[in-house]
Amino acid sequence: MNKYRGQGLLVVISGFSGAGKGTLIKRLIETHGEDYALSVSATTRNPRPGEVDGKDYFFVDKERFQEMIQKDQLLEYARYVDNYYGTPREYVESRMQEGKDVILEIEIQGAMRIKGQYPDAVLIFVTPPSAGELKRRLTGRGTESPEVIRKRLNRAADEAVGVEAYDYILINDDIDHSAELLHKAIQLQHMRTQRKLPFLYEISRELRTLD
Ligand code: 5GP
Repeated sequence: MNKYRGQGLLVVISGFSGAGKGTLIKRLIETHGEDYALSVSATTRNPRPGEVDGKDYFFVDKERFQEMIQKDQLLEYARYVDNYYGTPREYVESRMQEGKDVILEIEIQGAMRIKGQYPDAVLIFVTPPSAGELKRRLTGRGTESPEVIRKRLNRAADEAVGVEAYDYILINDDIDHSAELLHKAIQLQHMRTQRKLPFLYEISRELRTLD
């Protein structure tokens, strides 16, 4: 672990369904992978075509999800459009110990729970440049029925409620530029005074002992 960085941060990425969060995170990891670890959530929803168990999500049934809650194996969880989603605790905590910043792509209720437990988590809300673009991306994905798309668009409108609690809003119009901005926002979080005070105090102590 880089001794100046200390323990890793939690990075919460939320945003309207179809905002391009997945692509953005993928690009961030391609360009700065050594700094980050990506948390894989557990969910009770069915896999979409092409999704891989253990990579995109851990796909579990309701009973298993309940068990994870009871055994305190989830850092947070929430219900979203008829399904449950949750962040496995063990992976996240061990990667943070190793000094990796752990990325959680989660919705807003989960984000608020994370901020409550980890005040120095950085919360970033990703939005497409317009509502029309959001619909186009959701429809273009071709994996959801019109009814589910309608539900997700409604839910997207609701998702803007509570966004004031986020640290940054990222308008995702250009993927490369957005990924760089995301990286910079996270790096800045490492420099926050509260986080760096112990390091500074150590230097002050050393200075007093120097001849
Ligand atoms: P999707 O079904 O499109 O993969 O995800 C639906 C929503 O659930 C997205 O907003 C996604 O960010 C959120 N989500 C995914 N995993 C988790 C999780 O572990 N916890 C919470 N609270 N939300 C999650």
